[in-house]
Amino acid sequence: SAKRRQCGSMTYEASLDAGSQESLSLLTELRRAVENNELRLFLQPKVDLKSGAVISAEALVRWEHPQRGLVPPMEFIPFAEQTGFIRQLTAWVLAESAHALKLAQGHGFDLRISVNLSTRDLLDQDLPTKIDQLLAGYSVTPQGLCLEITESAIMDDPQRALQTLERLSEMGFKLSIDDFGTGYSSLAYLKRLPVNELKIDKSFVMAMERDLDDARIVRSTIELAHNLGLTVVAEGVETGKAWKLLAELGCDEGQGYFISRPMPTPRFFEWLQGWQA
Ligand code: C2E
Ligand code: CA
Ligand code: CA
Ligand code: CA
Repeated sequence: SAKRRQCGSMTYEASLDAGSQESLSLLTELRRAVENNELRLFLQPKVDLKSGAVISAEALVRWEHPQRGLVPPMEFIPFAEQTGFIRQLTAWVLAESAHALKLAQGHGFDLRISVNLSTRDLLDQDLPTKIDQLLAGYSVTPQGLCLEITESAIMDDPQRALQTLERLSEMGFKLSIDDFGTGYSSLAYLKRLPVNELKIDKSFVMAMERDLDDARIVRSTIELAHNLGLTVVAEGVETGKAWKLLAELGCDEGQGYFISRPMPTPRFFEWLQGWQA
């Protein structure tokens, strides 16, 4: 609507009501974005907080819109989830990630790539088979990939999520619980899920230096993860002080702007060379 357009770049966010003219054109545009190669894969490193070694990288999608420039995921991922387009988007991200993993191996880097799955992906019972076929095309094995799933996506339909996750785990994927602490998670489920990793949401990590409660939440999440035999990752590491504090608390890995912002794949490899040197 005209009123929304006045708000400038927020047009997309306002266009979520299904069936409206704007959402129809957004869906058309998203389809075209894939066809015209307008999506970009960015990678953000995750490091071992003791040694500083890069263990893996998270794949984060951006949309390089011909008019609007780089559109952040929060402006189109929720819409893609609502319309079901997320399945195509996830397939694209997985293919690009498999390709990036191949490139990394070619450069002699030993790392894993993490891909975000949405609720809709998780409810797709053919997902494991589709991923399997897709990876075979790139001669990449599941062991090189980690799949990140938010706790709210799991709790949407825990029974079905558990089934899908079990299959993915048997196939050899590492599995990670994303944004831990923000949804209501059931610890009973957490115990049963075949996951390897838990990511503490950045809201807690970014606040822990000034808020004692957040610091306590971070500390007890690290403890909980370790008691369940999980690797624990802190996201939102924005300062050297946060890195040091997390390392003291025994947190295994960290990800955040202090280490690096997400970068386009070629730049990520350059950065990695410099970081390791
Ligand atoms: P997420 O999975 O929790 O990803 C982490 C987000 O935190 C990323 O935002 C990343 O750029 C940002 N971040 C990392 N370190 C810091 C830091 O130190 N400080 C701050 N303030 N932020 C930091 P981004 O790339 O904008 O992605 C936002 C969300 O969009 C993601 O949150 C994820 O939920 C979704 N998303 C992004 N790419 C994909 C994708 O390929 N598939 C799906 N399903 N969702 C995606
Ligand atoms: Ca994530
Ligand atoms: Ca997260
Ligand atoms: Ca998040």
